[in-house]
Amino acid sequence: MSRIIFQSILKRSFRKSSPWAPPKISSIGNVNKMCDQAASKSKLSDRLLQIGNFNVYCWSISGIETTVVVKKPSDGFSCCFDMGYACRHNIPCDKVMISHGHMDHISAVPQHIKKRELSSLKPASYYVPPHLVDNLLKVCSGFDGLSENTKGLKDPNIIGVKAGEEINLSRGYFAIPFPTVHRVSSQGYIIYSTHKKLAPKYEGLDPKQIAVCIRNGEDIFDEPEIIPEVAFTGDTTFEVFSQCPQDVFRVKLLIMEATYINNDEGTLEERVSLARKWGHIHLSELYENASMFENVDNILLMHLSDKYSCGYIRTKVFENIPESLKDKIHVSTLAKEHYI
Ligand SMILES: [Zn+2]
Ligand SMILES: [Zn+2]
Repeated sequence: MSRIIFQSILKRSFRKSSPWAPPKISSIGNVNKMCDQAASKSKLSDRLLQIGNFNVYCWSISGIETTVVVKKPSDGFSCCFDMGYACRHNIPCDKVMISHGHMDHISAVPQHIKKRELSSLKPASYYVPPHLVDNLLKVCSGFDGLSENTKGLKDPNIIGVKAGEEINLSRGYFAIPFPTVHRVSSQGYIIYSTHKKLAPKYEGLDPKQIAVCIRNGEDIFDEPEIIPEVAFTGDTTFEVFSQCPQDVFRVKLLIMEATYINNDEGTLEERVSLARKWGHIHLSELYENASMFENVDNILLMHLSDKYSCGYIRTKVFENIPESLKDKIHVSTLAKEHYI
């Protein structure tokens, strides 16, 4: 059985500073257990995936809602991709990167703004493909009118970013959008971390000697090391992988859509062709091209079609998985479990 890591159900634990602060991770369960527990709806919102060094809250069903929060507890980094659902897990995120304008990925932006305001959090920044800026501002303005004087909705930080432009994130991280291939203009994001490295001539010096060099005004650092950490595809066809930056194939965590996973209707060609027609990926495309992802540490599949049950998902995702992907594939069924 392939490795699927899920965090167990947690009790809600609110921090004093913010009513939206997410709970802490406590332990790891597995997908079978999670699905079996799906009837217990009251506990279902408190689930994080622990994947490598990341904690991931992935709430995603195709056409319904998608939002993904990625955190790296070791250095306090966090960010959010897409905003189809504003909940206490993503309210604390002040950097939100949106992939495209479909409702299931963007419609909760006004709610996110309002909920942060209610929690006395400073306004977040929303990075979107440039063509979405005007309409998203209009949507926020419309909600401002409906709710009569909601401060944050009057002048939200909605920032258009083109593919290749750099987005400054916190704690030495930055993001770069890349074009994806969907039914509408869309983009994914790569998150990078930067690490200062001592210049070779200073390596081996003890801290006191280093301190002396700094006091003398010497620049002790070499060019920073830049590490691709996370890539997020949003909605796309598999064609994205023939044109994306090569760093996508070197990340520690690739969060990609796999809207369709069925292998029991029609031929493989028919299934793939239907997925592409709708601007999405069929899981078999990933498995047929597994070698492309040999340098990716982990892959999280999201945005699965709402027509699949939890049991169907865990069967189909893992029944034909190539050997090289067996320890890498994770799948998000959190939202699906909640809606059962
Ligand atoms: Zn979608
Ligand atoms: Zn879409």
